[in-house]
Amino acid sequence: MTPILSAQGISRHFGSITALSPSDLDVAPGEVVVLIGPSGSGKSTLLRCLNLLEPPDSGEIRFRDQCITEQGVNLDQVRRSIGMVFQQFNLYPHMTALGNVTLALRRVHRLSREDARTRGMAALEEVGLAKQHDAHPGNLSGGQQQRVGIARALALDPDIMLFDEPTSALDPELVGEVLSVMRRLRDRKMTMVIVTHEMGFARDVADRVVFMNEGAIIEQGPPETLFTAPTQPRTREFLSRLM
Ligand code: ADP
Ligand code: MG
Repeated sequence: MTPILSAQGISRHFGSITALSPSDLDVAPGEVVVLIGPSGSGKSTLLRCLNLLEPPDSGEIRFRDQCITEQGVNLDQVRRSIGMVFQQFNLYPHMTALGNVTLALRRVHRLSREDARTRGMAALEEVGLAKQHDAHPGNLSGGQQQRVGIARALALDPDIMLFDEPTSALDPELVGEVLSVMRRLRDRKMTMVIVTHEMGFARDVADRVVFMNEGAIIEQGPPETLFTAPTQPRTREFLSRLM
Protein backbone atom coordinates (compact mmCIF):
# COMPACT_ATOMS: atom_id res chain seq x y z
CA MET A 1 0.00 0.00 0.00
CA THR A 2 1.22 3.53 -0.73
CA PRO A 3 2.26 5.16 2.55
CA ILE A 4 0.32 8.23 3.64
CA LEU A 5 3.49 9.50 5.36
CA SER A 6 7.00 8.57 4.33
CA ALA A 7 10.20 9.81 5.98
CA GLN A 8 13.47 8.94 4.27
CA GLY A 9 16.85 9.54 5.88
CA ILE A 10 15.64 12.15 8.34
CA SER A 11 18.09 13.21 11.06
CA ARG A 12 18.29 15.84 13.74
CA HIS A 13 21.18 17.20 15.79
CA PHE A 14 21.26 19.55 18.76
CA GLY A 15 24.76 20.97 18.87
CA SER A 16 27.03 17.97 19.18
CA ILE A 17 24.18 15.64 20.19
CA THR A 18 22.75 13.36 17.52
CA ALA A 19 19.13 13.11 18.66
CA LEU A 20 18.14 11.23 15.52
CA SER A 21 20.48 9.43 13.12
CA PRO A 22 19.30 9.20 9.49
CA SER A 23 16.10 7.17 9.78
CA ASP A 24 13.31 5.93 7.52
CA LEU A 25 9.71 5.52 8.56
CA ASP A 26 6.69 4.78 6.36
CA VAL A 27 3.17 4.86 7.73
CA ALA A 28 0.31 3.26 5.79
CA PRO A 29 -3.21 4.70 5.81
CA GLY A 30 -5.07 3.43 8.88
CA GLU A 31 -1.91 1.99 10.40
CA VAL A 32 -1.07 2.31 14.11
CA VAL A 33 2.68 2.55 14.72
CA VAL A 34 3.97 2.54 18.30
CA LEU A 35 7.46 3.87 19.09
CA ILE A 36 9.17 2.44 22.15
CA GLY A 37 12.66 2.77 23.61
CA PRO A 38 14.59 4.13 26.56
CA SER A 39 14.48 7.77 27.61
CA GLY A 40 16.65 9.90 25.33
CA SER A 41 16.53 7.42 22.43
CA GLY A 42 15.06 9.97 20.01
CA LYS A 43 11.37 9.00 20.04
CA SER A 44 10.09 12.54 20.58
CA THR A 45 12.56 13.95 18.10
CA LEU A 46 11.41 11.53 15.40
CA LEU A 47 7.76 12.27 16.15
CA ARG A 48 8.32 16.04 16.16
CA CYS A 49 10.20 15.85 12.87
CA LEU A 50 7.22 14.12 11.25
CA ASN A 51 5.05 17.24 11.53
CA LEU A 52 7.99 19.64 11.29
CA LEU A 53 7.84 20.87 14.88
CA GLU A 54 11.54 20.06 14.63
CA PRO A 55 12.69 20.55 11.07
CA PRO A 56 14.96 17.60 10.21
CA ASP A 57 18.59 18.44 9.32
CA SER A 58 18.60 15.97 6.45
CA GLY A 59 16.29 13.72 4.51
CA GLU A 60 12.86 14.10 3.07
CA ILE A 61 9.30 13.66 4.33
CA ARG A 62 6.45 12.98 1.94
CA PHE A 63 2.87 13.37 3.07
CA ARG A 64 0.32 12.09 0.57
CA ASP A 65 1.70 13.37 -2.74
CA GLN A 66 3.56 16.36 -1.31
CA CYS A 67 7.15 16.76 -0.15
CA ILE A 68 6.68 18.69 3.11
CA THR A 69 10.38 19.23 3.78
CA GLU A 70 10.67 21.52 0.75
CA GLN A 71 10.98 25.27 1.16
CA GLY A 72 7.77 27.25 1.16
CA VAL A 73 5.48 24.54 2.53
CA ASN A 74 2.42 25.80 4.42
CA LEU A 75 3.24 24.74 8.00
CA ASP A 76 -0.28 25.51 9.29
CA GLN A 77 -1.70 23.16 6.68
CA VAL A 78 0.85 20.43 7.55
CA ARG A 79 0.10 20.66 11.28
CA ARG A 80 -3.62 20.63 10.63
CA SER A 81 -3.29 17.39 8.64
CA ILE A 82 -0.75 15.82 11.00
CA GLY A 83 -2.19 16.43 14.48
CA MET A 84 -0.16 16.20 17.66
CA VAL A 85 -1.05 15.34 21.25
CA PHE A 86 1.53 16.14 23.92
CA GLN A 87 2.39 14.68 27.30
CA GLN A 88 1.66 18.04 28.95
CA PHE A 89 -1.75 18.97 27.63
CA ASN A 90 -0.87 22.67 27.20
CA LEU A 91 -4.46 23.87 27.60
CA TYR A 92 -5.18 27.53 28.25
CA PRO A 93 -6.44 27.70 31.85
CA HIS A 94 -8.59 30.80 31.30
CA MET A 95 -10.51 29.24 28.40
CA THR A 96 -13.27 26.61 28.49
CA ALA A 97 -12.79 23.13 27.04
CA LEU A 98 -14.66 24.23 23.92
CA GLY A 99 -12.63 27.45 23.74
CA ASN A 100 -9.40 25.44 23.80
CA VAL A 101 -10.67 23.08 21.12
CA THR A 102 -11.87 25.84 18.79
CA LEU A 103 -8.98 28.29 19.23
CA ALA A 104 -6.91 27.14 16.25
CA LEU A 105 -10.03 26.70 14.11
CA ARG A 106 -10.90 30.36 14.71
CA ARG A 107 -7.47 32.03 14.80
CA VAL A 108 -5.44 29.96 12.35
CA HIS A 109 -8.05 28.46 10.06
CA ARG A 110 -10.47 31.40 10.21
CA LEU A 111 -13.66 29.42 10.68
CA SER A 112 -16.75 31.35 11.72
CA ARG A 113 -17.75 31.13 15.39
CA GLU A 114 -20.70 28.92 14.41
CA ASP A 115 -18.66 26.48 12.28
CA ALA A 116 -15.88 26.30 14.87
CA ARG A 117 -18.45 25.53 17.57
CA THR A 118 -20.05 22.76 15.52
CA ARG A 119 -16.68 21.14 14.79
CA GLY A 120 -15.46 21.64 18.36
CA MET A 121 -18.58 20.07 19.90
CA ALA A 122 -18.31 17.08 17.54
CA ALA A 123 -14.68 16.60 18.62
CA LEU A 124 -15.60 16.84 22.32
CA GLU A 125 -18.39 14.34 21.68
CA GLU A 126 -15.84 11.92 20.21
CA VAL A 127 -13.77 11.99 23.41
CA GLY A 128 -16.88 11.77 25.60
CA LEU A 129 -16.73 15.33 26.95
CA ALA A 130 -19.56 17.18 25.20
CA LYS A 131 -21.28 17.78 28.55
CA GLN A 132 -18.13 19.39 29.97
CA HIS A 133 -17.64 21.83 27.05
CA ASP A 134 -18.11 24.82 29.34
CA ALA A 135 -15.69 23.65 32.06
CA HIS A 136 -12.30 25.24 32.56
CA PRO A 137 -9.24 22.94 32.63
CA GLY A 138 -8.79 23.54 36.36
CA ASN A 139 -12.16 21.90 36.97
CA LEU A 140 -11.36 18.84 34.87
CA SER A 141 -9.30 15.81 35.90
CA GLY A 142 -5.95 15.19 34.20
CA GLY A 143 -7.54 12.45 32.11
CA GLN A 144 -10.32 14.79 31.00
CA GLN A 145 -7.78 17.51 30.21
CA GLN A 146 -5.85 15.12 28.00
CA ARG A 147 -9.09 14.13 26.27
CA VAL A 148 -9.64 17.84 25.55
CA GLY A 149 -6.09 17.84 24.13
CA ILE A 150 -7.08 14.98 21.83
CA ALA A 151 -10.32 16.77 20.85
CA ARG A 152 -8.30 19.88 19.99
CA ALA A 153 -6.26 17.85 17.50
CA LEU A 154 -9.33 15.99 16.20
CA ALA A 155 -11.26 19.21 15.56
CA LEU A 156 -8.78 20.06 12.80
CA ASP A 157 -9.85 16.85 11.01
CA PRO A 158 -6.31 15.45 10.73
CA ASP A 159 -5.29 12.58 8.43
CA ILE A 160 -2.73 11.36 10.97
CA MET A 161 -2.39 11.83 14.71
CA LEU A 162 0.92 11.79 16.59
CA PHE A 163 0.87 11.10 20.34
CA ASP A 164 3.94 11.78 22.50
CA GLU A 165 3.52 9.87 25.79
CA PRO A 166 -0.09 11.03 26.16
CA THR A 167 -0.58 9.28 29.51
CA SER A 168 2.81 9.82 31.15
CA ALA A 169 1.71 12.88 33.13
CA LEU A 170 -1.42 11.18 34.48
CA ASP A 171 -2.16 9.46 37.77
CA PRO A 172 -2.45 5.71 37.12
CA GLU A 173 -6.23 5.63 37.62
CA LEU A 174 -6.71 8.21 34.84
CA VAL A 175 -4.64 6.44 32.19
CA GLY A 176 -7.40 4.04 31.10
CA GLU A 177 -9.89 6.68 29.92
CA VAL A 178 -7.28 8.25 27.61
CA LEU A 179 -6.22 4.86 26.23
CA SER A 180 -9.87 3.99 25.52
CA VAL A 181 -10.31 7.17 23.50
CA MET A 182 -7.23 6.17 21.49
CA ARG A 183 -8.60 2.65 21.03
CA ARG A 184 -11.80 4.15 19.63
CA LEU A 185 -9.75 6.23 17.17
CA ARG A 186 -7.98 3.06 16.08
CA ASP A 187 -11.36 1.34 15.62
CA ARG A 188 -12.45 4.08 13.28
CA LYS A 189 -9.21 3.64 11.32
CA MET A 190 -7.39 6.82 12.32
CA THR A 191 -3.73 6.63 11.26
CA MET A 192 -1.61 7.07 14.39
CA VAL A 193 2.01 7.18 15.51
CA ILE A 194 2.21 6.78 19.27
CA VAL A 195 5.12 7.05 21.72
CA THR A 196 4.18 5.20 24.88
CA HIS A 197 5.53 3.21 27.80
CA GLU A 198 2.20 1.38 28.16
CA MET A 199 3.36 -1.95 26.76
CA GLY A 200 0.02 -3.75 27.25
CA PHE A 201 -1.67 -1.02 25.23
CA ALA A 202 1.08 -1.15 22.59
CA ARG A 203 0.66 -4.89 22.19
CA ASP A 204 -3.08 -4.43 21.89
CA VAL A 205 -3.38 -1.50 19.43
CA ALA A 206 -0.17 -1.51 17.39
CA ASP A 207 0.00 -2.85 13.87
CA ARG A 208 3.74 -2.29 14.11
CA VAL A 209 6.11 -1.59 17.00
CA VAL A 210 9.33 0.33 16.36
CA PHE A 211 12.14 0.06 18.91
CA MET A 212 14.57 2.97 19.10
CA ASN A 213 17.89 3.26 20.90
CA GLU A 214 20.48 6.07 20.86
CA GLY A 215 18.76 7.99 18.07
CA ALA A 216 18.32 5.04 15.73
CA ILE A 217 15.58 2.61 14.75
CA ILE A 218 16.99 -0.73 15.88
CA GLU A 219 14.18 -3.13 15.08
CA GLN A 220 10.53 -3.12 14.08
CA GLY A 221 7.73 -5.57 13.52
CA PRO A 222 4.25 -6.64 14.52
CA PRO A 223 3.79 -6.62 18.31
CA GLU A 224 3.42 -10.39 18.58
CA THR A 225 6.87 -10.79 17.02
CA LEU A 226 8.69 -7.83 18.53
CA PHE A 227 7.54 -8.44 22.10
CA THR A 228 7.98 -12.20 22.12
CA ALA A 229 10.87 -12.82 19.74
CA PRO A 230 13.01 -9.69 19.33
CA THR A 231 16.09 -10.34 17.22
CA GLN A 232 18.35 -7.53 18.45
CA PRO A 233 20.19 -7.78 21.80
CA ARG A 234 19.35 -4.15 22.66
CA THR A 235 15.64 -4.77 22.11
CA ARG A 236 15.79 -7.88 24.31
CA GLU A 237 17.63 -6.02 27.02
CA PHE A 238 15.14 -3.13 26.97
CA LEU A 239 12.12 -5.44 27.09
CA SER A 240 13.59 -7.63 29.82
CA ARG A 241 14.03 -4.56 32.04
CA LEU A 242 10.29 -3.88 31.75
CA MET A 243 9.15 -7.35 32.70
P1 ADP B 1 13.04 10.45 23.91
O1 ADP B 1 11.77 11.10 23.48
O2 ADP B 1 13.23 9.07 23.36
O3 ADP B 1 13.22 10.46 25.40
P2 ADP B 1 14.31 12.76 22.71
O4 ADP B 1 13.96 12.72 21.25
O5 ADP B 1 13.55 13.70 23.56
O6 ADP B 1 14.26 11.28 23.30
O7 ADP B 1 15.84 13.13 22.87
C1 ADP B 1 16.89 12.51 22.13
C2 ADP B 1 18.20 13.19 22.50
O8 ADP B 1 18.20 14.51 22.02
C3 ADP B 1 18.44 13.28 24.00
O9 ADP B 1 19.82 13.14 24.23
C4 ADP B 1 17.99 14.68 24.33
O10 ADP B 1 18.65 15.17 25.46
C5 ADP B 1 18.36 15.44 23.07
N1 ADP B 1 17.45 16.59 22.82
C6 ADP B 1 16.14 16.50 22.50
N2 ADP B 1 15.60 17.72 22.31
C7 ADP B 1 16.61 18.60 22.53
C8 ADP B 1 16.70 20.04 22.49
N3 ADP B 1 15.66 20.81 22.17
N4 ADP B 1 17.91 20.60 22.76
C9 ADP B 1 18.99 19.83 23.06
N5 ADP B 1 18.97 18.48 23.12
C10 ADP B 1 17.80 17.87 22.85
MG1 MG C 1 10.22 11.87 24.61
